[in-house]
Amino acid sequence: MKIYDQFFIDGEWVEPSTGDRFESPNPATGQPWASVAEGRAEDIDRAVQSAHNAFENGPWHIMPASQRSEILRRLGDLVLKHSDHLAKLETTDNGKAIRETGGVEIPAIAKWYYYFAGLAETIEGRTIPVNNDLHVHTVREPVGVCGCILPWNSPLLMAAFKLAPALAAGNTVVFKPSENTSVSILEFANLIQEAGIPPGVVNIVPGYGPVAGKALAQHPLVDKIAFTGGTETGKQIAHYAADGVKRVSLELGGKSPNIVFDDYDLEEAVVGVMSGIFVAAGQTCVAGSRLFVHDKIYDEFLDLLVKRTRQIRVDNPMDPTTQMGAQTCQSQLNKIKELVQSGIDEGADLMTGGKPPQDADPSSYFFLPTVFSGVQTNMRIAQEEIFGPVVSVFRFSEEDELVEKANGVKYGLAAGLWTRDVKRALRLSRRLKAGSVWINCYRKINWAVPFGGFKMSGYGRENGQEVLDLFTQTKSVWIDISEDYIDPYAT
Ligand code: NDP
Repeated sequence: MKIYDQFFIDGEWVEPSTGDRFESPNPATGQPWASVAEGRAEDIDRAVQSAHNAFENGPWHIMPASQRSEILRRLGDLVLKHSDHLAKLETTDNGKAIRETGGVEIPAIAKWYYYFAGLAETIEGRTIPVNNDLHVHTVREPVGVCGCILPWNSPLLMAAFKLAPALAAGNTVVFKPSENTSVSILEFANLIQEAGIPPGVVNIVPGYGPVAGKALAQHPLVDKIAFTGGTETGKQIAHYAADGVKRVSLELGGKSPNIVFDDYDLEEAVVGVMSGIFVAAGQTCVAGSRLFVHDKIYDEFLDLLVKRTRQIRVDNPMDPTTQMGAQTCQSQLNKIKELVQSGIDEGADLMTGGKPPQDADPSSYFFLPTVFSGVQTNMRIAQEEIFGPVVSVFRFSEEDELVEKANGVKYGLAAGLWTRDVKRALRLSRRLKAGSVWINCYRKINWAVPFGGFKMSGYGRENGQEVLDLFTQTKSVWIDISEDYIDPYAT
């Protein structure tokens, strides 16, 4: 078993305040593979103090942006250099297939650091022509200490969404990863050291949400909270932020519609729909978990979807031929099982899946990709985020009714559309209440493109130039340049 019995604070590995640890199970076996020190409020306080000192006294935000940029670029290089190792850690810890982590996700993370290395040098103010007597300009300054709370589905990617812009803007950071997936981010600390990021600029303390996460979100020296996680936890975080008048950005859950019209190539759309819901074993916030298929192709589409879904290879995530790995934790597996049962009880038709694979180790967290048809919009599987490989299929024929149903959930993170009709695609992209709309593709995420939710999927945008607004604050500087002055007290 791997032991991680220290925290990364002030550029060093330090002893925790208690000897308590938690175990991280390997989802493919259900057996613990790592033991991680559990952070308490005292440890979070130490990390925040370190980030505060680094911000107030350190060189980070006062060094030339070009120097920060160079360091971020180096961090990107290190991610690429160590991507095999990081991908293996991620797959062992969260069960995502290695072909996803190693093939795509981890190497892509380097791009976040490269992109924000470039943007670091573009954080500029404006000169505002108020009148001839005054010179007014604005400066964009870092906000200070950023508390970053991460989920378990893509820990290093979610960390990059926050860390790259935070550092580019000159902030300092404290991470609280999910207790299910702390390992990769702890090992990432070694790259932070090697890249030459000064002590205290990045600090990492794993622990439980209601203890370490809460302590971080409530800490008076934390200036901004960047949170990715479930909507219920997000609401809690918003309360903490309100109490401390802290800046906050929330990337929360989703229940995204994926809509297929009858003019699109059927096979291509089936594959697009499958990867929209089954990638990462369904554990993505943007999962296309509600599928709307046009009446004219519904039966044929459903047959093909079910046939292809049954062929997905669910197996050891470390095997490069595996197409779908395991769920990350027992509680997530239980949640999926419970919601699938609710779908059956409420009268939906289970077309395939709905259970763990027959030959799976009973201690493991595998679950078969699952398709439900005959779903009514008021069923739990049509409304609640499952965060697993479960898709509910609906039939539609008329556009207004489609829009009403597609928008008829509390979430608004993403939506997909498959059609060759450009007028219809653009018209619907305006009517769908979602932070990202994908046309003839799905789940495209890029460092340069803003990402975030409408409605209860959260607020604030990550990625793109927009995210820098969340990690900077604007100062207006007024200079009187006239030779005259007015004495308001003159008698
Ligand atoms: P949770 O909301 O359970 O947890 C997210 C993080 O918050 C974890 O680090 C957790 O710690 C911590 N936390 C829990 N309670 C508190 C608290 N009271 N105060 C402070 N921190 C707390 O989400 P999951 O980890 O289960 O992730 C899955 C959810 O994340 C899904 O709903 C998914 O949609 C969403 N998500 C959203 C994304 C987006 O960009 N919109 C991207 C990825 C996921 P601990 O784990 O120790 O409990």
